Amino acid sequence: MPCRKQGVGLKSLMLALLLLMALSLEAAARPAILDARLGIHPGMTRVVLELSEASAWRVFALPEPNRVVIDLQEVDWIGPPERFSAGYVSALRFGLFTPGISRVVLDLKQPAAVRQVLELPPHDGRGHRLVVDLEETAASDFRTSAVANIQESARRLPPIEIALPGAPAPPRDRRPTIVIDAGHGGVDPGAIGVSGTKEKDLVLAYSRALAEKIRASGRFRVVMTRDDDRFIPLRQRFAIAEQAKADLFISLHANTNPSGSIRGASVYTLSEEASDAEAAAIAARENKADAIGGLDLAVQPGEVGRVLLGLAQRDTMNLSKTYAVMLVDELGKRVELLRNTHRFAGFAVLKSPTVPSVLLEIGYISHRDEERQLRDPTHRQRVVDAVFDAISRHFEIQQAWNQ
Ligand SMILES: [Zn+2]
Repeated sequence: MPCRKQGVGLKSLMLALLLLMALSLEAAARPAILDARLGIHPGMTRVVLELSEASAWRVFALPEPNRVVIDLQEVDWIGPPERFSAGYVSALRFGLFTPGISRVVLDLKQPAAVRQVLELPPHDGRGHRLVVDLEETAASDFRTSAVANIQESARRLPPIEIALPGAPAPPRDRRPTIVIDAGHGGVDPGAIGVSGTKEKDLVLAYSRALAEKIRASGRFRVVMTRDDDRFIPLRQRFAIAEQAKADLFISLHANTNPSGSIRGASVYTLSEEASDAEAAAIAARENKADAIGGLDLAVQPGEVGRVLLGLAQRDTMNLSKTYAVMLVDELGKRVELLRNTHRFAGFAVLKSPTVPSVLLEIGYISHRDEERQLRDPTHRQRVVDAVFDAISRHFEIQQAWNQ
């Protein structure tokens, strides 16, 4: 019997070893983009992605702003190029689009159609290559034929389905639920600061610190729309809040302005008519997030257009305003504010008819000093404390009303 027991022990040890080997092989084999190059030819720009292994792909063009999107199986890219500009291409962005699909977006200087996509096997020390040839095209042709033309590998990528991540249902948790929405993410970097700070990274740091502060109080339930670097469509952000039956939705952003001298935090709530031209411009820029990420606006008619408000939305909007007023007050005690803040505009991310929603622009990363300040953890804590104290006051008043 002892002999047999030993046999079983050896067998399970071998199984464990095999499993370990399989796991490490899998880790080693995670596909990656190794390099990206641009080749300029008369009437054509060639984009070459070098891959560690062959991947299924999908390539298509999108207008306004003009882009070419290359979807791949989920891949790593240790160092996407900071500058990728030549021929018809003005910039390259890369990020996780949905789980299982990574996205490369080529921003175009001028309309350019995808002439062909080639897969080349490893050769002469080069890895697997995906070659995308772009050819000059008229703006009118770009809008019609170029955009309709989707090219795919024989082995298809799964269709893009933006599924709602299952926000946990509140099980007998009667505490108010706060949803924290870190703006942008993944393939959409948001605004870029004077010294290169990306809005998506900055607001994620603020969101995490805020979530930590709220959780530590034990008084509220916290749901984050994202806690990593991923793309989330605007309508999905407030759908997460609705699914979580949230009592407050706070979207965090950082601002830019071409002048470089404007600074200060600002607070926004939804309205049909913008309070001023600047608020309208900020809403227009933030509403572009879906387009920047490569979501085709054609499938969401009117989503970023005029905001139509129903009666049910009036109560929600009043609560949004109540919180915004307190947030401005608390922020004003601690940090510099943009003049006349608490403004109104048609922000797509604030459109939930049931969840009071506020958008906070933490400051201007186009202002050199403010960009530096916003990266400072002490400043971050001041902002977090202001948002938290405003939450406390807001719900104290709610509870007093409801008694
Ligand atoms: Zn933003």
